[in-house]
Amino acid sequence: MCEVLAGAGRPLTIPEILDLDPALAQSSVYRNLVVLEQAGIVHRIVTNAEFARFELTEDLTGHHHHHLICSRCGAVEDAPAVDAVEQAVHRAIAEVERAAGFRTTGHRIDLVGLCRACVEP
Ligand SMILES: [Zn+2]
Ligand SMILES: [Zn+2]
Ligand SMILES: [Zn+2]
Repeated sequence: MCEVLAGAGRPLTIPEILDLDPALAQSSVYRNLVVLEQAGIVHRIVTNAEFARFELTEDLTGHHHHHLICSRCGAVEDAPAVDAVEQAVHRAIAEVERAAGFRTTGHRIDLVGLCRACVEP
């Protein structure tokens, strides 16, 4: 199942995982995702759609990115973390750390809004 997630290049729902690897049994996909999530191998992206989406964690892929989540259709797109954005985020984080006495080890950014298909019906 990790191969399916690695090959997709985008976060997948459980029905999509089953479509891409019909050899998997639905019950074992559910079970495996729970185990893989607890082991820090799989990251769950919660949307307001019927199904959550799953992808390999950044620890595993080494590919830091943000998410664009469509609040209408539940589509999730990976957004590359460009340098200018990362620098601005790190400056903002430094202020939060000073105010809260918090030591940051990473960040996750999910932008919520409307995807291209939902903006232009
Ligand atoms: Zn949409
Ligand atoms: Zn992602
Ligand atoms: Zn980032």
